[in-house]
Amino acid sequence: MPDRREELEKAGRREIEKLQLDRLRSSLGRAARSPFYRELFASNSFRPGDLVSLSDLGRLPFTVKQDLRDSYPDRMLACPPREVVRMHSSSGTTGTATVVYHTAGDIDRWTGLVVRCLVMAGATADDVFQNMMGYGFFTGGLGLHYGAERLGMMVIPAGGGNTHRQIELFRDFGTTVIHVTPSYALHVSDVFREMGLGPEDFKIKKIIFGAEPYSEGTRSKLEEAYRAQAFNCYGLSEMNGPGVAFECRRSEGMHVWEDSYIVEIIDPASGEALPAGETGEVVFTTLTREAMPLIRYRTRDLAKIYPETACPCGRNFTRISRITGRSDDMLIVKGINLFPSQIEHVLMKTPGVGTNYLIVLDRFENLDRLTVRVEIAPGAFHGDAEEMRRLQALIKHSLREEIMVQAEVELLEPGALPPSQGKAKRVLDKRDV
Ligand code: ADP
Ligand code: ZN
Repeated sequence: MPDRREELEKAGRREIEKLQLDRLRSSLGRAARSPFYRELFASNSFRPGDLVSLSDLGRLPFTVKQDLRDSYPDRMLACPPREVVRMHSSSGTTGTATVVYHTAGDIDRWTGLVVRCLVMAGATADDVFQNMMGYGFFTGGLGLHYGAERLGMMVIPAGGGNTHRQIELFRDFGTTVIHVTPSYALHVSDVFREMGLGPEDFKIKKIIFGAEPYSEGTRSKLEEAYRAQAFNCYGLSEMNGPGVAFECRRSEGMHVWEDSYIVEIIDPASGEALPAGETGEVVFTTLTREAMPLIRYRTRDLAKIYPETACPCGRNFTRISRITGRSDDMLIVKGINLFPSQIEHVLMKTPGVGTNYLIVLDRFENLDRLTVRVEIAPGAFHGDAEEMRRLQALIKHSLREEIMVQAEVELLEPGALPPSQGKAKRVLDKRDV
């Protein structure tokens, strides 16, 4: 019996596009079962049956994160509730949480995509896989876990943190493949070096990096620190999670699994399609999801498509570049998403705080550090240092409650920060991404 996975991976462009069109038709049909898309299609006088070619998809408006929030908890659900076997939710730090539902079939197909990624990285059942990503709602944990198990690797569900234990696990169980965020990998390598250990003490051969942007420089540094080959893994919970796009051994761009997703790159300002080679916002349409199809979902991630489709690895699936940034101003600090506006919100409601502030991000001991430099209100300082310490502690506490990240707070005298010359620059990101 031919291996379905291998056969699919060798598919040519025409074959891929034909499959996409078939699947898009049924995906739109399924989407129409959810209250959200039923209304959206009706207000655009669109019937899923009208779709003749893939380009007809452009007739539909984009779906944005706010639509998911507004649909909380289940207006995007497109199947009977009893068919749902799992939900994932965003951390909920940025307003109302978003929910993504999965049927058993959805989990099965997602797992299949993750297996493809792992096979592409050269992993086999002989490998020992240490999953150093957080479990729980975060899709990096369970997503990779299921795929790694299906491939037959021994999975160590280590989760994030607990660095000494992670290093002990590397040694005691002969870990050969790890899945980790680049920033945490840097920290772990610092710690093992401090312990007098080096890559020669481990068997790690492959590292799967995901969940946050990072530079080529960081990648090289990490490949050296672990003496292992790195693979970039991209995904987002709205599109299941990790395994939407993954690097082949050519290490130039990530193949998007186009039998499961349609990828578009658009100009974030105008919404117009951009040609291959130009950087813009990545937009995805799910092709096989049952519980919660998403049509033209704007990821806010910026990347470009490589014009050349035939890859020396034998695959014809479109490759996207690494994610170079976000089209909005969302910050990812220690893996938690936050917006400058949330910080502003805390500052501005605190009496004694001025109007000018700057959010500084850098790395300290290879971990993200967030410092909020804020001017006190004119006249708020009465020569009492204790009062200032109280204000500082109050801001720190409120920030922690609002953004769930520990922040350093520096109080400055009024006028200490450069005033805005038009569009205020509120964020100074000194992390090397
Ligand atoms: P959210 O709730 O933040 O949308 P996810 O946990 O689903 O969260 O995270 C998805 C986001 O993480 C992506 O939209 C992207 O910004 C970032 N991300 C994931 N993988 C990568 C990667 N390999 N490179 C850069 N950024 C990534
Ligand atoms: Zn390739």
